[in-house]
Amino acid sequence: MTEILALPAFDDNYIWLLRARGCVAVVDPGDAAPVLAHLERSGDRLCAILATHHHGDHVGGLAEILARFPVPVFGPALENIAGVTHALSGGERIELPEIGVELEVIAVPGHTRGHIAYYGPNIDDDGALFCGDTLFGAGCGRLFEGTPAQMQESLAKLAVLPAPTLVYCAHEYTQGNMRFALAVEPGSVAVQRRSENVAEDRAKGRATIPTRIRIELETNPFLRWDAPAVRAAAASRLGHLPADAVETFAAIREWKNRF
Ligand code: ZN
Ligand code: FE
Repeated sequence: MTEILALPAFDDNYIWLLRARGCVAVVDPGDAAPVLAHLERSGDRLCAILATHHHGDHVGGLAEILARFPVPVFGPALENIAGVTHALSGGERIELPEIGVELEVIAVPGHTRGHIAYYGPNIDDDGALFCGDTLFGAGCGRLFEGTPAQMQESLAKLAVLPAPTLVYCAHEYTQGNMRFALAVEPGSVAVQRRSENVAEDRAKGRATIPTRIRIELETNPFLRWDAPAVRAAAASRLGHLPADAVETFAAIREWKNRF
């Protein structure tokens, strides 16, 4: 059984650990210190590092960790990340034999050019997705290097994963994102309920991550390009009905940038 642990980093990052049989794989170690502290405290052995994209808050700890533990590093082929030993462009299947986990690599360009996500269908009963800065709780990453069409296509690949899949994104952004989700769909009971739950979780210091694909499909405006209320919200920004999912997504993303 694979355990998944969160190491909080910086203001709102999560560094995820996949752990079994005294071994761990670490996802997006933006900072080495919490990872090294975990290894020291637990006696766990590091077996691999997985990177989703090149931003410093995701890979900034690589050099320091690798200096102590020279393990395989999986990362996006399209991005220049020092230390990557296994370059991935999506469609691959990777194995982490020490912890008995297999992951499917999904190309999700948009936030960055080469961004990849890791999906483990057999982690837990429900499966787990490590998606970096692509899909967030009630949100999605900013389009730094990609187009709205790319990001919408990337999110659509995640949206079709099994509904119960646990979503481990890299930031605790859900509460702020819910304020925007409420502005997009003020009449949605699902969004209102989630908003209350998230506010309560945060007030008690609890993480809102992992979330699930099902919850995102119901409440995340960046996956709801087909929902009439979201199309209507996009139309009111655009001044005309959006032609398709990409135009809806682009209008909602643009609105969020100024929200
Ligand atoms: Zn990022
Ligand atoms: Fe980030």
